[in-house]
Formats: sequence, C-alpha cells, structure tokens
Amino acid sequence: MGAERRNQQIQLKSRPRGEIKPDDFKLVDTPVPTPAAGEVLVQSHYLAVEPAMKGWIEARVDYVAPVEIGEVMRGQGAGVVLQSNHPDYPEGTLVTGSFGWCRYLTSDGKSVPLRKLPAGIEPTAALNVLGITGLTAYFGMLDIGQPQAGETVLVSAAAGATGSIAGQLARIAGARVIGIAGGRDKCEWLVSELGFDGAIDYKSEDTAARVAALCPDGLNVFYDNVGGEILDIALDNLADKARVVLCGGISRYNQTGAIPGPKNYFNLVYRRARMEGFIVVDYAARFGEGVGALAKLLDSGQLQHRETLLQGFDQLPQALINLFSGGNIGKQLVAVDI
Ligand code: NAP
Repeated sequence: MGAERRNQQIQLKSRPRGEIKPDDFKLVDTPVPTPAAGEVLVQSHYLAVEPAMKGWIEARVDYVAPVEIGEVMRGQGAGVVLQSNHPDYPEGTLVTGSFGWCRYLTSDGKSVPLRKLPAGIEPTAALNVLGITGLTAYFGMLDIGQPQAGETVLVSAAAGATGSIAGQLARIAGARVIGIAGGRDKCEWLVSELGFDGAIDYKSEDTAARVAALCPDGLNVFYDNVGGEILDIALDNLADKARVVLCGGISRYNQTGAIPGPKNYFNLVYRRARMEGFIVVDYAARFGEGVGALAKLLDSGQLQHRETLLQGFDQLPQALINLFSGGNIGKQLVAVDI
C-alpha cells in the first residue's frame, strides 16, 4: 500500500519579517510513511492555523520551541487511522493531535500524542471549541476575567475563534457582553446568533466613541486578543477593580521595530484594576475540566461554534495569512483534499 497515495508536507522555508508570505513555506512531496510495529498511519482531514504560529516561525517567543527552517510546520490536526499496528487505535479511529502540516504521519500514540475523538464529536469542533481554542477562552475568561452577573465585558477580535467563545462564556455567566470585530457581517453574527449585547465594527466606526456609548458604566472585564489602539481605548474605559485579560495582541504580530506601549496604562492605578497575561498550556492539568464544561455547554445548546474552511492542503500558508486580514469567522481550518 502507499503507492497510490501521495504524501506532502509543508516546511518552513524562511523566517518572515513583517507579514507572512506564501513563499515563506515550501510544499514537499515525500513518501507515505510506513507504520512500524506498534505504530499507526494517520491521514490528516483537517489542519488548524492560529496567529501564535507567527511567533513560532519568527523564533520570537520563548514559551515554545521555534519551528526551524526546513522543519515541517507545527500545527494541530484531526484525521483518521488508516493502518494500525497498535491495539489502542484500530483502523477507522478518529484522532486529533499535533500532526504538523502533512497529509500522512505515523505515531505510536506518544511520539505524536494522539487523542481519540469521543463519539459524536465533529473533528472540526475538536480543533476549535473542544480544543486549545475553547480552552484558551475558558480559562482566560473564567479564571482570569471572572465575569460576574450584571457586569460589562468587552472582547476584542470577538468574531474570531477564541473571542467568539470567550464572549459567549461571559454571556452565560450573566454578563453584558460587547464585541469588537472587523466588518458588519461579523458584528451582525455576534449579536443575532451568539447573543452579544452589542458589537462595534472597528474598521468603520469610531471605536472609542462606541465603547464609551455602549459601556457607560465602564468595563469590568476586557478580554484582549488584539492589543495596540484597541487596548488603549479599553484602558481608558475601565470600571473600578476591572480585570484586563491579555490573551493575545495580533495587531503587533506583523509589526517590526519598536512597538509603542499602551498610553493609558496608568488608568489601572486610578481604577485599582488588574491586567494579567496567560498562556493556555499553563492550565494543562485542568484541560479535562475545561473540555468537560465546554462539552456540557455545547450539549445544552448554550454555546455555539463556527469554523471557516479553506479547501486544499496547499492552502495552509494562505489560511494562516488570512488570520491577519480577518478572513475568518470563528476558527480558521483547512480541509485537506484527500
Ligand atoms: P482568530 O481570532 O480566529 O483570528 C484572528 C482575528 O484577529 C482575525 O479574524 C481578525 O478579525 C483579527 N485581527 C487581525 N489583525 C487585526 C488587527 N490588526 N487589529 C484588530 N484585529 C485584528 O484567532 P485565534 O486563534 O482565536 O487567536 C486570537 C488571539 O488569541 C490571538 O492574538 C492569539 O495569539 C491569542 N491566543 C492566545 C493564547 C494564549 O494561550 N494566550 C492561545 C490561543 C490564542 P477582525 O476581522 O475582527 O479584524
């Protein structure tokens, strides 16, 4: 077997400066790997992209090893066991894990840790609300933001993967939730489908004026995925004892040179507020709790998720680039053409 199958990998070719270009990656044909004794052959069906990848390929972050030049791009995937020499993963088992950008991979279940998909869970949901994305929103919003009933919560990049779940978790906790997103369609989705109390299109509206108008008593929680000017506007509108959750800062990921700090940080002092960053892997010991709670909210219909699919393995670099221009609603995934 394998002769009729074609394996491909996408490797990092160069470290981007500023914006990522498709040419920073290289598509390579390789043989379909043969599973050794105790191993399985997995076929990728969906592969995920996330903004954090920019830091990995630039070798700019220290919480995770960089992706080296010539290395297969790292990333989460979902797929199926095609051939099995492992009793725990029979043929046909649906699995997720850090597959990397490849059509086929082998694993003994630990070399690339494989998680079996529980019955009834869609692979796309496993890469989104029941994966790292959902867990980031869960721990960031509930553990650090701690929204209370009646409080006002503002979320940036609210129509993206993490923001859309974080905002819904605050709504479920009883808070009034306002989202900031790029474009009327995204804002409409937040309010009419996800139950946000308001949405601000930062691309066409005066964001500072709209935040002040929609949050007249100030922000009790700001869940930030963006940084930059949006963070400054939020800092200017804090309520007493506010919590500012620093989840991400995508507005700075493509910037080169010195990046200005927030002008309005001193309002943290006046408002006796707190600003705290986190990395989701810090919560690894509690991932089971998080997935369980998110699965319950999905089952009860209180929580929704959405994925934007780009078709074709070779679209992975473009899918990653699209995150920086807001091409996605919810989680950006690539559906691998099989
Ligand atoms: P995402 O929100 O699905 O996609 C990124 C979104 O950011 C885009 O859809 C775009 O939406 C918005 N955006 C892009 N450039 C922007 C800019 N210059 N200004 C304002 N908005 C911009 O991605 P995600 O995977 O959920 O990640 C969201 C954030 O969480 C990222 O900053 C990421 O690094 C962070 N994160 C942190 C952790 C952690 O452990 N701390 C874990 C996962 C993710 P618009 O159309 O609205 O512009």
